[in-house]
Amino acid sequence: MTLTKQLKEIMQGWGNSFLDKLNMLPTIIKEEAEERSKICSTCPIRTDNTCDPNKKGISAKGRAFYGCGCYIDKKVLCMDCDCPGEYWKAFDVNKIK
Ligand code: SF4
Repeated sequence: MTLTKQLKEIMQGWGNSFLDKLNMLPTIIKEEAEERSKICSTCPIRTDNTCDPNKKGISAKGRAFYGCGCYIDKKVLCMDCDCPGEYWKAFDVNKIK
């Protein structure tokens, strides 16, 4: 992943978190984030609020991977983000209109 893409994803997660605190987050994004949070809550790669880069797991497609190091509460709000374990995917909010 390029640094630019990584920065965009981080900004999207934090931006949507800010909108959520203002109760301005679109429902469709909030619902997707809640579904992702449920998956992350039982994931063995999780350590507190972090997708732990020191933990190695097996992805949904059987591939070895490490956690991405992101704060989970922000990552689930980034619709362009993918779970490194392929347990959930990027979500195109423009498709649902
Ligand atoms: S983003 Fe994926 S790998 Fe990371 S904690 Fe959530 S479900 Fe697990």
